[in-house]
Amino acid sequence: PRVFNFSAGPATLPEPVLQQARDELLDWNGMGASIIEISHRGPEFMRVAAQAEADLRELISIPDDYAVLFLAGGATTAQALIALNFADPGQAVDYVLSGHWSKTALKQVRPYVDPRIAATSEESGFRDVPPPSSWTLSPDAAYVHYTANETIHGVEFHDVPDVDGAALIGDFSSSIASAPLDVSRFGVLYAGAQKNLGPVGVSVLIIRRDLLERSGQPRAEILDYRAHVRGESMLNTPPTWNWYLAGLVFRWMLDEGGVEEFARRNARKAALLYQAIDGSGGFYRNEVAFGARSRMNVPFFLHDDVLNAAFLSESKAAGLLALKGHRVLGGMRASIYNAMPEAGVQALVDFMGDFARRHG
Ligand code: PLP
Repeated sequence: PRVFNFSAGPATLPEPVLQQARDELLDWNGMGASIIEISHRGPEFMRVAAQAEADLRELISIPDDYAVLFLAGGATTAQALIALNFADPGQAVDYVLSGHWSKTALKQVRPYVDPRIAATSEESGFRDVPPPSSWTLSPDAAYVHYTANETIHGVEFHDVPDVDGAALIGDFSSSIASAPLDVSRFGVLYAGAQKNLGPVGVSVLIIRRDLLERSGQPRAEILDYRAHVRGESMLNTPPTWNWYLAGLVFRWMLDEGGVEEFARRNARKAALLYQAIDGSGGFYRNEVAFGARSRMNVPFFLHDDVLNAAFLSESKAAGLLALKGHRVLGGMRASIYNAMPEAGVQALVDFMGDFARRHG
């Protein structure tokens, strides 16, 4: 039997997607071969690839003047390539720091550009996001980068920041497609697939086409987003299995009612879990400022660390997997992405109440 898996990523996938992939694994569409055994340039895979892109465009309403890429390399590679593609050598770029992943993004570009910290919430231990009204933007910056949802610290920007015409680049690795989003507010949006979009091994980039006209920095063709757009993400052999699976996830999300429906479910799941934490009389606590609490990743602490081991072993025995917090923060973390059913969060909340009664 499958358990409820609260892993931060690679994360749980929708069961119907896994079943369909299993059913199709040996013989895709009557070909007598698996989807991962055929050429990426053949008409069969090209159809799968094109359908995945069309479904993603429909799912998150991507305007036509944005290119969509499905690439290997993960979000971290995108973090580095952004500087190579969209900023000139030594040009200023603005970074907003709201947690571990925005610091990673900053680290990736240091060899290429002059990153400036437009705002940071580090002094609060990243328990809040720096409000966009406090950001100090450089007039000469090539772009402004921020992390929409911090997977480890559990803080999230709930609105798209207003950056007054600057090219806004958002890391949406852990919150893409979790709620409606106005893509036209962005220069670039990127996400590793392994939380809300599918399996690890493919990342999605959504790039406003005019940015592709920027010269950027000297770089090999394989690091050049213009070349990837021209080559329709097939400059070299793409991660076909991951792309196909992501396509199944997009279809599943559309069939379930699209991002509006997932926004409602995600709001209910997050409210249920935060209420259980806040209403536990101090047995559990979440330290994030109320308005910045993530709907996707909920870090929480037990009132006494001595209970951590028992919480983890008993929750696992109860069919609740991967609740151990990230080593940077300790404690616990429940990741409740789109594919986590409401019943999973209910089971977690029931377990937490029971655990608190027995150990309180
Ligand atoms: N950005 C965010 C918000 C993440 O959560 C992660 C991974 O968890 C990354 C970037 C790095 O992604 P990848 O491991 O695909 O490079």
